[in-house]
Amino acid sequence: MVSSQLFSKPKTYLITGGAGFIGSHISETLIQQGYRVLVIDNLSTGSLANISHLLDHPNFHFAYASIADDVVLDRLMSEADVAIHLAAAVGVKLIVEQPVHTIETNVMGMESVLQAAIRYRVKTVIASTSEVYGKGNKVPFTEDDDVVLGPTCRSRWSYAATKMVDEFLALAYYHEKGLPVVIARLFNTVGPRQTGQYGMVIPRFVQQALKGENLSVYGDGKQSRCFLHVSDAVKALLKLAECNEAIGEVFNVGSTEEISIVELARKVITLTRQKNKESQSDIDFVPYGQAYAPGFEDMQRRVPDNTKIQQYVNWQPTKILEEILHDVLVSFTDSEHLVPQK
Ligand code: UDP
Repeated sequence: MVSSQLFSKPKTYLITGGAGFIGSHISETLIQQGYRVLVIDNLSTGSLANISHLLDHPNFHFAYASIADDVVLDRLMSEADVAIHLAAAVGVKLIVEQPVHTIETNVMGMESVLQAAIRYRVKTVIASTSEVYGKGNKVPFTEDDDVVLGPTCRSRWSYAATKMVDEFLALAYYHEKGLPVVIARLFNTVGPRQTGQYGMVIPRFVQQALKGENLSVYGDGKQSRCFLHVSDAVKALLKLAECNEAIGEVFNVGSTEEISIVELARKVITLTRQKNKESQSDIDFVPYGQAYAPGFEDMQRRVPDNTKIQQYVNWQPTKILEEILHDVLVSFTDSEHLVPQK
Protein backbone atom coordinates (compact mmCIF):
# COMPACT_ATOMS: atom_id res chain seq x y z
CA MET A 1 0.00 0.00 0.00
CA VAL A 2 2.71 2.44 0.99
CA SER A 3 4.72 1.93 -2.24
CA SER A 4 1.69 2.56 -4.48
CA GLN A 5 1.11 5.79 -2.57
CA LEU A 6 4.65 7.16 -2.85
CA PHE A 7 3.58 9.72 -5.44
CA SER A 8 0.03 10.35 -4.26
CA LYS A 9 -1.52 11.67 -1.08
CA PRO A 10 -2.14 8.82 1.39
CA LYS A 11 -5.74 8.01 2.23
CA THR A 12 -6.94 10.23 5.07
CA TYR A 13 -8.90 9.03 8.09
CA LEU A 14 -10.71 11.40 10.44
CA ILE A 15 -10.99 9.93 13.93
CA THR A 16 -13.41 11.72 16.23
CA GLY A 17 -12.39 10.97 19.81
CA GLY A 18 -8.96 9.98 18.50
CA ALA A 19 -7.23 10.81 21.81
CA GLY A 20 -9.46 8.39 23.69
CA PHE A 21 -8.83 4.78 24.59
CA ILE A 22 -9.99 3.10 21.35
CA GLY A 23 -9.38 6.17 19.14
CA SER A 24 -5.71 6.41 20.08
CA HIS A 25 -5.14 2.74 19.23
CA ILE A 26 -6.84 3.20 15.84
CA SER A 27 -4.79 6.33 15.12
CA GLU A 28 -1.58 4.53 16.01
CA THR A 29 -2.41 1.54 13.77
CA LEU A 30 -3.33 3.78 10.82
CA ILE A 31 -0.13 5.81 11.15
CA GLN A 32 1.90 2.57 11.26
CA GLN A 33 0.12 1.47 8.06
CA GLY A 34 1.07 4.69 6.23
CA TYR A 35 -2.26 6.53 6.33
CA ARG A 36 -2.83 10.20 7.12
CA VAL A 37 -4.76 10.66 10.36
CA LEU A 38 -6.75 13.68 11.50
CA VAL A 39 -7.95 13.61 15.10
CA ILE A 40 -10.58 15.82 16.69
CA ASP A 41 -10.86 15.48 20.46
CA ASN A 42 -11.79 17.86 23.27
CA LEU A 43 -9.83 15.75 25.81
CA SER A 44 -12.90 15.43 28.04
CA THR A 45 -12.30 11.73 28.66
CA GLY A 46 -9.40 11.24 26.23
CA SER A 47 -5.92 12.49 27.02
CA LEU A 48 -2.93 13.99 25.27
CA ALA A 49 -0.76 11.27 26.85
CA ASN A 50 -2.59 8.68 24.69
CA ILE A 51 -1.36 10.32 21.46
CA SER A 52 1.83 12.10 22.59
CA HIS A 53 3.95 9.57 20.66
CA LEU A 54 2.09 10.48 17.42
CA LEU A 55 2.07 14.27 17.65
CA ASP A 56 5.35 14.80 15.76
CA HIS A 57 4.51 12.39 12.96
CA PRO A 58 4.10 14.22 9.61
CA ASN A 59 0.95 12.22 8.74
CA PHE A 60 -0.73 12.97 12.08
CA HIS A 61 -2.77 16.09 12.80
CA PHE A 62 -4.47 16.78 16.12
CA ALA A 63 -7.26 19.34 16.51
CA TYR A 64 -8.05 20.15 20.14
CA ALA A 65 -11.75 20.84 19.63
CA SER A 66 -15.18 19.47 20.32
CA ILE A 67 -17.21 17.84 17.55
CA ALA A 68 -19.75 20.55 18.35
CA ASP A 69 -17.28 23.01 16.79
CA ASP A 70 -18.77 23.01 13.28
CA VAL A 71 -16.00 25.06 11.68
CA VAL A 72 -13.18 22.76 12.79
CA LEU A 73 -15.20 19.61 12.09
CA ASP A 74 -16.11 20.85 8.60
CA ARG A 75 -12.51 21.60 7.71
CA LEU A 76 -11.28 18.20 8.87
CA MET A 77 -14.14 16.37 7.17
CA SER A 78 -13.39 18.17 3.89
CA GLU A 79 -9.96 16.51 3.90
CA ALA A 80 -11.09 13.02 4.95
CA ASP A 81 -11.75 9.93 2.85
CA VAL A 82 -13.16 7.96 5.78
CA ALA A 83 -14.42 9.09 9.21
CA ILE A 84 -14.52 6.87 12.28
CA HIS A 85 -16.82 8.37 14.90
CA LEU A 86 -15.77 7.46 18.43
CA ALA A 87 -16.28 10.75 20.27
CA ALA A 88 -18.96 10.03 22.87
CA ALA A 89 -19.70 10.04 26.56
CA VAL A 90 -18.90 6.50 27.70
CA GLY A 91 -18.76 4.49 30.91
CA VAL A 92 -21.72 3.59 33.11
CA LYS A 93 -20.39 5.62 36.05
CA LEU A 94 -20.09 8.79 33.94
CA ILE A 95 -23.54 8.26 32.47
CA VAL A 96 -25.21 7.86 35.85
CA GLU A 97 -23.36 10.89 37.25
CA GLN A 98 -23.73 13.22 34.24
CA PRO A 99 -26.85 12.29 32.24
CA VAL A 100 -27.28 15.73 30.60
CA HIS A 101 -23.73 15.69 29.30
CA THR A 102 -24.17 12.10 28.04
CA ILE A 103 -27.39 12.71 26.16
CA GLU A 104 -26.27 16.00 24.59
CA THR A 105 -22.81 14.77 23.62
CA ASN A 106 -24.01 11.57 22.05
CA VAL A 107 -27.05 12.79 20.16
CA MET A 108 -25.85 16.25 19.08
CA GLY A 109 -22.36 14.94 18.39
CA MET A 110 -23.67 12.29 16.01
CA GLU A 111 -25.82 14.89 14.26
CA SER A 112 -22.83 17.22 13.77
CA VAL A 113 -20.67 14.42 12.38
CA LEU A 114 -23.33 13.21 9.93
CA GLN A 115 -24.10 16.75 8.76
CA ALA A 116 -20.42 17.35 8.06
CA ALA A 117 -19.95 13.92 6.43
CA ILE A 118 -22.87 14.38 4.01
CA ARG A 119 -21.39 17.66 2.72
CA TYR A 120 -18.36 15.77 1.40
CA ARG A 121 -19.99 12.31 1.16
CA VAL A 122 -17.40 10.83 3.51
CA LYS A 123 -17.88 7.19 4.45
CA THR A 124 -18.53 7.12 8.20
CA VAL A 125 -18.01 4.22 10.57
CA ILE A 126 -19.97 4.68 13.79
CA ALA A 127 -18.88 3.10 17.06
CA SER A 128 -22.05 2.01 18.80
CA THR A 129 -22.33 -0.27 21.82
CA SER A 130 -23.78 -3.53 23.06
CA GLU A 131 -25.65 -1.35 25.61
CA VAL A 132 -28.28 -0.93 22.89
CA TYR A 133 -29.42 -4.50 23.62
CA GLY A 134 -30.44 -3.15 27.03
CA LYS A 135 -31.59 -5.76 29.49
CA GLY A 136 -32.65 -8.30 26.89
CA ASN A 137 -31.75 -11.78 28.14
CA LYS A 138 -31.13 -13.51 24.84
CA VAL A 139 -27.82 -15.34 24.47
CA PRO A 140 -26.12 -14.56 22.16
CA PHE A 141 -27.35 -11.21 20.80
CA THR A 142 -27.75 -10.91 17.03
CA GLU A 143 -27.91 -7.56 15.27
CA ASP A 144 -31.64 -7.63 14.50
CA ASP A 145 -32.79 -8.72 17.95
CA ASP A 146 -35.48 -6.69 19.71
CA VAL A 147 -34.27 -4.20 22.27
CA VAL A 148 -35.46 -4.12 25.90
CA LEU A 149 -34.67 -0.95 27.83
CA GLY A 150 -35.58 0.07 31.38
CA PRO A 151 -37.78 3.10 32.16
CA THR A 152 -36.69 6.71 31.60
CA CYS A 153 -36.52 7.32 35.36
CA ARG A 154 -33.44 5.06 35.45
CA SER A 155 -30.72 7.23 33.95
CA ARG A 156 -28.51 4.28 33.06
CA TRP A 157 -30.74 3.55 30.07
CA SER A 158 -30.20 7.03 28.64
CA TYR A 159 -26.86 5.86 27.25
CA ALA A 160 -28.45 2.96 25.36
CA ALA A 161 -31.24 5.24 24.14
CA THR A 162 -28.79 7.87 22.84
CA LYS A 163 -26.78 5.25 21.00
CA MET A 164 -29.99 3.86 19.50
CA VAL A 165 -30.90 7.35 18.28
CA ASP A 166 -27.37 7.60 16.82
CA GLU A 167 -27.88 4.32 14.96
CA PHE A 168 -31.33 5.37 13.71
CA LEU A 169 -29.98 8.72 12.55
CA ALA A 170 -26.98 7.21 10.77
CA LEU A 171 -29.14 4.63 8.99
CA ALA A 172 -31.60 7.39 8.05
CA TYR A 173 -28.73 9.36 6.46
CA TYR A 174 -27.86 6.22 4.51
CA HIS A 175 -31.39 5.43 3.32
CA GLU A 176 -32.64 8.98 2.73
CA LYS A 177 -29.49 10.82 1.64
CA GLY A 178 -27.21 8.03 0.43
CA LEU A 179 -24.42 8.66 2.96
CA PRO A 180 -22.24 5.54 3.26
CA VAL A 181 -22.35 4.54 6.94
CA VAL A 182 -21.36 1.39 8.84
CA ILE A 183 -22.35 0.70 12.45
CA ALA A 184 -20.20 -1.37 14.81
CA ARG A 185 -21.70 -2.40 18.15
CA LEU A 186 -18.69 -2.81 20.39
CA PHE A 187 -19.04 -5.20 23.34
CA ASN A 188 -16.89 -4.64 26.47
CA THR A 189 -13.59 -3.53 24.93
CA VAL A 190 -10.51 -3.33 27.14
CA GLY A 191 -6.76 -2.93 27.00
CA PRO A 192 -3.91 -0.53 27.74
CA ARG A 193 -4.89 3.18 28.08
CA GLN A 194 -8.42 2.45 29.30
CA THR A 195 -9.00 4.31 32.53
CA GLY A 196 -11.07 3.02 35.44
CA GLN A 197 -12.22 6.56 36.16
CA TYR A 198 -15.51 6.17 34.32
CA GLY A 199 -16.46 2.78 35.71
CA MET A 200 -14.83 0.15 33.47
CA VAL A 201 -14.29 -2.96 35.50
CA ILE A 202 -10.93 -4.35 34.32
CA PRO A 203 -8.80 -1.22 34.81
CA ARG A 204 -10.51 -0.71 38.18
CA PHE A 205 -9.81 -4.27 39.37
CA VAL A 206 -6.21 -4.19 38.14
CA GLN A 207 -5.50 -0.86 39.81
CA GLN A 208 -7.11 -2.01 43.07
CA ALA A 209 -5.06 -5.23 43.01
CA LEU A 210 -1.82 -3.38 42.29
CA LYS A 211 -2.47 -1.08 45.25
CA GLY A 212 -3.23 -4.08 47.48
CA GLU A 213 -6.82 -2.89 47.98
CA ASN A 214 -9.85 -5.16 47.95
CA LEU A 215 -11.57 -5.49 44.57
CA SER A 216 -15.09 -4.04 44.58
CA VAL A 217 -17.44 -6.50 42.90
CA TYR A 218 -20.86 -4.93 42.36
CA GLY A 219 -23.96 -6.96 43.19
CA ASP A 220 -23.36 -10.68 43.74
CA GLY A 221 -20.75 -10.84 40.97
CA LYS A 222 -22.65 -13.56 39.11
CA GLN A 223 -23.29 -11.19 36.19
CA SER A 224 -20.98 -11.98 33.29
CA ARG A 225 -19.30 -10.20 30.39
CA CYS A 226 -17.14 -11.04 27.36
CA PHE A 227 -14.02 -8.86 27.12
CA LEU A 228 -12.46 -7.94 23.78
CA HIS A 229 -8.85 -6.78 23.40
CA VAL A 230 -8.70 -3.29 21.93
CA SER A 231 -6.32 -4.49 19.18
CA ASP A 232 -9.04 -6.87 17.96
CA ALA A 233 -11.61 -4.05 18.08
CA VAL A 234 -9.30 -1.86 15.96
CA LYS A 235 -8.91 -4.62 13.35
CA ALA A 236 -12.69 -5.03 13.17
CA LEU A 237 -13.35 -1.29 12.73
CA LEU A 238 -10.70 -0.94 10.02
CA LYS A 239 -11.91 -4.01 8.14
CA LEU A 240 -15.47 -2.63 8.23
CA ALA A 241 -14.21 0.75 7.02
CA GLU A 242 -12.69 -0.93 3.96
CA CYS A 243 -15.68 -3.14 3.09
CA ASN A 244 -18.21 -1.70 0.62
CA GLU A 245 -20.73 -4.49 1.28
CA ALA A 246 -20.82 -3.39 4.95
CA ILE A 247 -22.35 -0.02 4.05
CA GLY A 248 -25.80 0.48 5.59
CA GLU A 249 -25.30 -2.50 7.93
CA VAL A 250 -24.95 -3.03 11.71
CA PHE A 251 -22.34 -5.42 13.15
CA ASN A 252 -21.63 -6.92 16.55
CA VAL A 253 -17.95 -6.69 17.51
CA GLY A 254 -17.10 -8.65 20.64
CA SER A 255 -15.42 -11.58 22.29
CA THR A 256 -17.42 -14.71 23.06
CA GLU A 257 -15.24 -15.79 26.00
CA GLU A 258 -17.62 -15.24 28.91
CA ILE A 259 -16.63 -14.80 32.55
CA SER A 260 -18.55 -13.83 35.68
CA ILE A 261 -17.38 -10.66 37.40
CA VAL A 262 -16.49 -12.46 40.63
CA GLU A 263 -14.44 -14.98 38.65
CA LEU A 264 -12.76 -12.08 36.86
CA ALA A 265 -11.88 -10.53 40.22
CA ARG A 266 -10.31 -13.83 41.37
CA LYS A 267 -8.29 -14.04 38.14
CA VAL A 268 -6.98 -10.49 38.56
CA ILE A 269 -5.97 -11.23 42.17
CA THR A 270 -4.14 -14.43 41.13
CA LEU A 271 -2.32 -12.72 38.26
CA THR A 272 -1.27 -9.79 40.43
CA ARG A 273 0.02 -12.18 43.14
CA GLN A 274 2.19 -13.90 40.51
CA LYS A 275 3.87 -10.53 39.97
CA ASN A 276 3.80 -9.36 43.58
CA LYS A 277 3.66 -12.08 46.23
CA GLU A 278 2.97 -9.48 48.93
CA SER A 279 -0.34 -8.47 47.32
CA GLN A 280 -3.08 -8.94 49.93
CA SER A 281 -6.20 -8.07 47.93
CA ASP A 282 -9.47 -9.82 48.60
CA ILE A 283 -13.02 -9.22 47.27
CA ASP A 284 -15.62 -6.77 48.63
CA PHE A 285 -19.19 -7.16 47.44
CA VAL A 286 -20.73 -3.71 46.97
CA PRO A 287 -24.51 -3.29 46.50
CA TYR A 288 -25.45 -1.68 43.17
CA GLY A 289 -27.31 1.13 44.91
CA GLN A 290 -24.09 2.10 46.66
CA ALA A 291 -21.88 1.69 43.59
CA TYR A 292 -24.06 3.66 41.18
CA ALA A 293 -27.47 4.97 42.23
CA PRO A 294 -30.53 3.61 44.03
CA GLY A 295 -32.53 1.30 41.75
CA PHE A 296 -29.60 0.71 39.38
CA GLU A 297 -30.25 -2.15 36.96
CA ASP A 298 -27.40 -4.25 35.55
CA MET A 299 -27.38 -6.73 32.67
CA GLN A 300 -26.79 -10.33 33.73
CA ARG A 301 -25.14 -11.54 30.54
CA ARG A 302 -24.01 -9.94 27.32
CA VAL A 303 -22.66 -12.25 24.63
CA PRO A 304 -22.31 -11.31 20.94
CA ASP A 305 -23.12 -13.43 17.93
CA ASN A 306 -20.24 -12.56 15.56
CA THR A 307 -21.55 -14.54 12.59
CA LYS A 308 -22.36 -11.44 10.53
CA ILE A 309 -18.99 -9.68 10.85
CA GLN A 310 -17.21 -12.96 10.24
CA GLN A 311 -19.18 -13.44 7.02
CA TYR A 312 -18.67 -9.87 5.75
CA VAL A 313 -15.01 -9.22 6.62
CA ASN A 314 -13.71 -12.51 8.02
CA TRP A 315 -13.08 -11.03 11.47
CA GLN A 316 -12.96 -12.84 14.77
CA PRO A 317 -11.25 -12.08 18.08
CA THR A 318 -7.70 -13.38 18.43
CA LYS A 319 -6.75 -12.53 22.02
CA ILE A 320 -7.99 -14.45 25.06
CA LEU A 321 -8.81 -12.89 28.44
CA GLU A 322 -5.50 -14.03 29.94
CA GLU A 323 -3.60 -11.92 27.34
CA ILE A 324 -5.88 -8.94 27.90
CA LEU A 325 -5.33 -9.00 31.66
CA HIS A 326 -1.59 -9.41 31.18
CA ASP A 327 -1.43 -6.39 28.83
CA VAL A 328 -3.51 -4.23 31.20
CA LEU A 329 -1.41 -5.27 34.19
CA VAL A 330 1.81 -4.42 32.35
CA SER A 331 0.44 -1.05 31.23
CA PHE A 332 -0.47 -0.11 34.81
CA THR A 333 2.83 -1.22 36.30
CA ASP A 334 4.32 1.45 34.06
CA SER A 335 3.60 4.22 36.59
CA GLU A 336 2.92 6.81 33.88
CA HIS A 337 -0.37 5.08 33.20
CA LEU A 338 -1.50 4.78 36.82
CA VAL A 339 -4.46 7.14 36.70
CA PRO A 340 -6.10 7.78 40.07
CA GLN A 341 -9.69 6.55 40.44
CA LYS A 342 -12.39 8.82 41.76
N1 UDP B 1 -18.32 -3.78 37.94
C1 UDP B 1 -17.85 -4.19 39.19
N2 UDP B 1 -16.93 -3.40 39.83
C2 UDP B 1 -16.44 -2.24 39.29
C3 UDP B 1 -16.91 -1.83 38.02
C4 UDP B 1 -17.85 -2.62 37.36
O1 UDP B 1 -18.26 -5.24 39.71
O2 UDP B 1 -15.58 -1.60 39.93
C5 UDP B 1 -19.28 -4.63 37.23
C6 UDP B 1 -20.48 -3.88 36.64
O3 UDP B 1 -21.53 -3.79 37.59
C7 UDP B 1 -20.84 -4.78 35.45
C8 UDP B 1 -19.50 -5.33 34.99
O4 UDP B 1 -18.60 -5.16 36.10
O5 UDP B 1 -21.66 -5.84 35.86
C9 UDP B 1 -18.92 -4.61 33.77
O6 UDP B 1 -18.92 -3.22 34.06
P1 UDP B 1 -18.32 -2.15 33.05
O7 UDP B 1 -18.68 -0.80 33.60
O8 UDP B 1 -16.90 -2.44 32.78
O9 UDP B 1 -19.10 -2.41 31.69
P2 UDP B 1 -20.67 -2.56 31.37
O10 UDP B 1 -20.79 -3.98 30.93
O11 UDP B 1 -21.46 -2.28 32.60
O12 UDP B 1 -20.89 -1.59 30.28
